[in-house]
Amino acid sequence: MPRAVADSVTVIGLGPMGQAMTRSLRASGVEVTVWNRSSEKAHAMREFGAARADTVAQALDAGEVILLSLTDYAAMYEVLEPAVDRLPGKTIVNLSSDTPEETRAAAGWVRARGGRFLAGGVMADGESLGSADSYVFYSGEREVFDASAEVLRPLGRAEYLGADVGLAQLYYQAVLAIFLSGLLAFEQALAMIDRSGEPIERFLPYAQQSMGDMRALYAAVAAMATDTGGWRDIAHLRMMTAGAGHVVETTAAVGVDTGLARAVQNHWLRALSESERTGVPISTFELVRGHPQ
Ligand code: NDP
Repeated sequence: MPRAVADSVTVIGLGPMGQAMTRSLRASGVEVTVWNRSSEKAHAMREFGAARADTVAQALDAGEVILLSLTDYAAMYEVLEPAVDRLPGKTIVNLSSDTPEETRAAAGWVRARGGRFLAGGVMADGESLGSADSYVFYSGEREVFDASAEVLRPLGRAEYLGADVGLAQLYYQAVLAIFLSGLLAFEQALAMIDRSGEPIERFLPYAQQSMGDMRALYAAVAAMATDTGGWRDIAHLRMMTAGAGHVVETTAAVGVDTGLARAVQNHWLRALSESERTGVPISTFELVRGHPQ
């Protein structure tokens, strides 16, 4: 049976996310001790009943579960290095964003100093943290996750991915890849509408409708990626390549930056020309994936 931990945590890093975590934990009755490099942010958290540690060593001594919410993993070493003698027996739950490889290296670093390690990828912003739709990817040893799960509950639904500690960041960055390019594509569309003198609010419902349509498309594309290595159909490639070209032309004609549109067009052009050269249709998924299935 996993050992239960006390209803208290330490939060290190009080940017918008660390502040939201502190508020959410406090609202659920969890005792919280905070530390932040710029001490005024830690001071401000007293309003929510959080105790402020003067030093990282004090912050580590205050609880068994230590949440890190820092800009990246490099900051973790900077913060913990001066207090490594306090790490034995502690569970470091790093909820900062970085790469799977950085995460695996950090887990090794913490474990070599006597601590336990859990990685988290927070799928919420400061406003929505802990709401019904928010969730957190976790990865690391199952026992460490089980022992911390209760105290982490106020951060949102837990999605435990497995013992490979890099998995939380892999899934987090994969979702972020959709989010970042999707958001930029939406802004390109808004710019096309705006530069054409059309009201953005008139266009919005159509953009929102296209989001709904994507759920079914994602399922179909995921099935093709799994079963056949993507959408391998030369007629489809020709149609999509022509469409991507029209988007570039329309974008350019209204004076909007074509960088994103050309990058998209380039993928369709490459898939089509490779398919025509070899006589075997290859998919854009295969092209991006980079290795034969
Ligand atoms: P911020 O960049 O605003 O805050 C980062 C925190 O890290 C601050 O407390 C900052 O201290 C501290 N920090 C940075 N570098 C160092 C360092 N070298 N030494 C000590 N402290 C350091 O980020 P957020 O709060 O927005 O996000 C935190 C993490 O959560 C990030 O990895 C982010 O990607 C992730 N995340 C954020 C979301 C959001 O909506 N904000 C959503 C999902 C994930 P100081 O105050 O002194 O500068």
